[in-house]
Amino acid sequence: MAPDNGIAAASRRVGLPGKLRRPDSPRAKTVGPFNARAAGAAIKILRREAADWNAPVLNLISAEHGDPFKTLIGCILSLRTKDQTTAIAAARLFSIADTPQRVLTMDAEELAKAIYPVGFYRTKARVIRGICRDLIERFDGRVPDRIDDLLTLKGVGRKTANLVVTQAFRKPGICVDTHVHRISNRWGLVRTRTPEQTEQALRKVLPRRHWIEINGLLVAFGQTICQPVSPFCSRCSLERRCPKIGVARSR
Ligand code: SF4
Repeated sequence: MAPDNGIAAASRRVGLPGKLRRPDSPRAKTVGPFNARAAGAAIKILRREAADWNAPVLNLISAEHGDPFKTLIGCILSLRTKDQTTAIAAARLFSIADTPQRVLTMDAEELAKAIYPVGFYRTKARVIRGICRDLIERFDGRVPDRIDDLLTLKGVGRKTANLVVTQAFRKPGICVDTHVHRISNRWGLVRTRTPEQTEQALRKVLPRRHWIEINGLLVAFGQTICQPVSPFCSRCSLERRCPKIGVARSR
């Protein structure tokens, strides 16, 4: 019998489909969907590597300012907009107005000019003014820390609400954007068609200790390695354990 250096046993213990198993063993060819433990192990690996990636801009805005209002408005600005553009527009806006009251001293035209060229900047200017009015009238000028309250603000969807709750208040929530949705499905951790379904599925399968960090990790991972059309599987640390569900082409 070939000597066992403990690799296969370690692999079975952590519930991983293949990474630690010998490449030539028959079981190494079987790579199944991730379960909660495999996802936890993958997240641990990605966490170690994340320092080499650029952090998603919204995490930076939250970390830099620690301000729920800036996180909320930054998230609105980021929708359908590149990170770099969001960062510049957010910095410009917050240098002029960084509270709901101050934003409302600007008319829609001034606000649109301050956030240009984020996508749909005129519409976003109207949305942001509406949110600021609402925050003052219904929440005493403060950003609420509950997802249900945030969802009552016009223009705030589940992704934004979860991001504010997790990043600004460090409370449990799962912010599912296109990257989290795509990668969770490629791992086989969930089998869903929409980000909303993915959020609900992840709430059931993913241990709570990973909820807050999963968005930041998978956004950065999705932007650099596990890209939408042709992921860089050959450079990916998870390559031998990932079932690559739905991946038709990779590099
Ligand atoms: S890059 Fe490839 S191997 Fe890595 S997680 Fe994405 S699909 Fe899996």
